[in-house]
Amino acid sequence: MNQYIDEAEKVLMHTYSRYQMVLDHGEGMYLFDTTGKKYLDFAAGIAVFALGYNYQGYNDALKTQIDKLLHSSNLFYNAPVVEAAKKLIKASGMDRVFFTSSGTEANEGAIKLARKYYFKKHGITNSQIISMNHSFHGRSMGALSITGTKKYREAFEPLIGGVVFAEFNNLDSVRELIQENTCAIIMEPVQGEGGLYPATAQFIQGVRKLCDEKDILLIFDEIQCGMGRTGSMFAYEQYGVKPDILTSAKALGCGLPVGAFAATEKAASAFEPGDHGTTYGGNPFVTAAVSKVFDLFESEKILDHVKGAAPYLEEKLEELVKKYDFITERRGMGLMQGLEFKMVVKDIIPKVMSSGLILITAGPNVIRFVPPLIVEKQHVDEMIATLDQCLSELQ
Ligand code: PLP
Repeated sequence: MNQYIDEAEKVLMHTYSRYQMVLDHGEGMYLFDTTGKKYLDFAAGIAVFALGYNYQGYNDALKTQIDKLLHSSNLFYNAPVVEAAKKLIKASGMDRVFFTSSGTEANEGAIKLARKYYFKKHGITNSQIISMNHSFHGRSMGALSITGTKKYREAFEPLIGGVVFAEFNNLDSVRELIQENTCAIIMEPVQGEGGLYPATAQFIQGVRKLCDEKDILLIFDEIQCGMGRTGSMFAYEQYGVKPDILTSAKALGCGLPVGAFAATEKAASAFEPGDHGTTYGGNPFVTAAVSKVFDLFESEKILDHVKGAAPYLEEKLEELVKKYDFITERRGMGLMQGLEFKMVVKDIIPKVMSSGLILITAGPNVIRFVPPLIVEKQHVDEMIATLDQCLSELQ
C-alpha cells in the first residue's frame, strides 16, 4: 500500500491531502483497501454512492450499455439520454435538461443560462448574480466565482465579475444586494462543504418571493443535498418552493461522472443552438446509469428508507452531543448530517479510519455524515460505537 502512496505522490498533482489508504473494492456499506482491511463508509465518495457499493442491478445496466454504445456526441440522438432526462424531469418538476460530466459543469451551465436569460430579455450584458457566503459550487473559474469561501477564490482572481455574496439564511442581506441587473440568485438548500447548514423555510420562501417579484432566476444547487439525501428526491420539495434552474450531480450517477442542470421552460428557452455544449455530456453510458438510478430509487423505495433511517441517525448523533462537552451541536437534514466541534476535527478522522470507519469533514470544525442511502440501523450503531470509542480516548 505504501508503494502506491509513494508513487501517487510522485505522479499526481498536489491538490489534495489524501488519507493514507488505497481503496480496492466495495460491497454495500463497506469499502476494502488493498491490504484487505474493511471500513464502514459514512462518506459515500462525498455523497455519491447513494446505492452503496457493487449494487448488482446498477452494475448489470452498465454492463449491458458497455456492449452497446459508450458515447455518441451531441451531434446525434441516443435513447438513454432521453430516458434519463424524462426521469429527471419527472422527479424535479423542471421542463428541460442539459447533462454534464460533473457538478461544477452543471453550475457553469446554470450561470450561462441565467446570463443568457437576462441578455435575451434586456439586450444588455453585465448582469449580476447573488450567491451565499460559505457556499460551495465547484472549482472551475465560473463555479469558483460563485463559491462563497474567500480562501478558495483568492489566488485565482480575477474571476468572472458581477458576483456578490449575501448571508445565508438572512433575507434582508439578499434584499439589500438586489439591483436592476440581478439575473439570478444561487444557493444550496442545505449547505454541504460550508458546514451542513439547512436553509430556513422563511429564508428560502422569502428568496423565492423576491425572485418572483423581480423576475430573477432562482438556482438551487442540489449537487450534494439532492437525489434523496434529505428524504425527498430534492430538498426544495420540503420547503414548498421550486427553483427556475436546478443543478444536480454526485448521486445522480451513483459513481459515474455525470451532472445536469435542468430548468423550467421559461428559463430554458433562453438557450439557442450554439449557446452551450460539451463532447461527453449526456453520453449513453452515463445516462444509462442515471436512468437506472431513478428506477432503483423507485423499486427499492429509497426515499421511504431515508425517511426511516435519518431520525435514528439524528437521535444517535444527539446522544454524542449530550455526552461530549467538546461537541457543540448536530445539524443537517435527512442523511446529510454534521457534528460541530469546539476544536478542529482533522486529527480525529485518521483515528476513526484506523478503527475501520470512514468519515469526512466539512470545514475545520465539522464532521460530516453522508452515508449511502441504503444505511440500516445496525450500521448507525456500528458507526456510533466506533466514533464514541475514538472520542472517549480524546477526552
Ligand atoms: N456544488 C456542491 C453543493 C457540491 O457539494 C460540489 C462538490 O462537492 C459541487 C458543486 C462540485 O461538484 P463536482 O465536484 O462534481 O464538480
